[in-house]
Amino acid sequence: MKFVDEYRQSETIQKIATEIRKETTRPWTIMEVCGGQTHAIVKNRLDQLLPQVIELVHGPGCPVCVTPLETIDRAIAIAALPGVIFCSFGDMLRVPGSEYSLLDVKADGGDIRIIYSPLQAVKIAEDHPTKQVVFFAVGFETTAAANAMAATQAKQKSLKNFSLLVSQFLVTPAIASICAAKDTRVQGFLAAGHVCSITGYESYLPLAEKYQVPIVVTGFEPLDILEGLLMCLRQLEQGSYQVENQYLRAVERTGNRPAQVLLNNVFSVSAQCWRGLGEIPASGLALAEEFSDLDATKKFALPEIKPREQHQCISGAIMLGLKKPGDCPHFGTTCRPDHPLGAPMVSSEGACSAYHRYSQQVKTRESSMSSPNNQ
Ligand code: SF4
Repeated sequence: MKFVDEYRQSETIQKIATEIRKETTRPWTIMEVCGGQTHAIVKNRLDQLLPQVIELVHGPGCPVCVTPLETIDRAIAIAALPGVIFCSFGDMLRVPGSEYSLLDVKADGGDIRIIYSPLQAVKIAEDHPTKQVVFFAVGFETTAAANAMAATQAKQKSLKNFSLLVSQFLVTPAIASICAAKDTRVQGFLAAGHVCSITGYESYLPLAEKYQVPIVVTGFEPLDILEGLLMCLRQLEQGSYQVENQYLRAVERTGNRPAQVLLNNVFSVSAQCWRGLGEIPASGLALAEEFSDLDATKKFALPEIKPREQHQCISGAIMLGLKKPGDCPHFGTTCRPDHPLGAPMVSSEGACSAYHRYSQQVKTRESSMSSPNNQ
């Protein structure tokens, strides 16, 4: 398959890993920002191909993990209202709120529908004119572009029964906040290729300069990630700090202009609270004034939401690159995919879920290899 198979070839992967081992002279800590990259690293055991002195830490690039508890509680309150059809991507359903999850509301008879595209929610609103359809618009710039398309289409169709509960995040301010943190351990970044396919990477240039940190825009296949690491490592070893683009087949310096216009029409930049990280100025996208009639928080009169955070979850420290999932005392014991205490154990992009899922696979593989039946 073009653009996939060639990025999974073992021979080429081994070659790049050898280059990395040859060129590494001292310890480095590099963060892959995107949860999709974390999963690719753990699933393909890429970290095991690296010299031990290179430590990979995992960034805040999982939209499910960073959606604030208050917003989850608000989603649960809206989804429980009579006459509401609540549309969400599947991962959000199992994220624990203060008391319940969306899945609990669904089990209690709430009309919650799992969708795969924001436009599906618009279609559901067209098909159910007597119901209020609310779409849980969660994500980074990539998803936000599709969410903007749904809002635009709902406006064009003059739908009065469609609204969005928005929880959208901008990646550059989050990287800036990690760079600015006094206790940061991160010396280089792999930036998320799909976000940059929308935004381009010009916004990273002042960051790399100000914090003297290399940033490499990287794809998601094993070879993409190792190439990105090699590019980042070469800069670290040479003491340079540029923005480089490994993901040339999908990302241009200025990004996707039509998508940016769409985003700017529908959303305006706002302060945003990131679960586990706190509020970061100008790091979110809220509905712009002209689209405020589509704002679910304004449409429904909800009682005051008082979120109660589970303090035992250390997801914030994990997403800042300060800790690893295995450092959490609850990992794999009281927090498991079938009983998650925090969003990173739920989401298909969460670091805890990646570690849990693939460590189980490794154990299964190892135990089946050592089984007498296989000898
Ligand atoms: S293992 Fe569970 S409790 Fe610990 S950080 Fe991950 S999600 Fe939070």
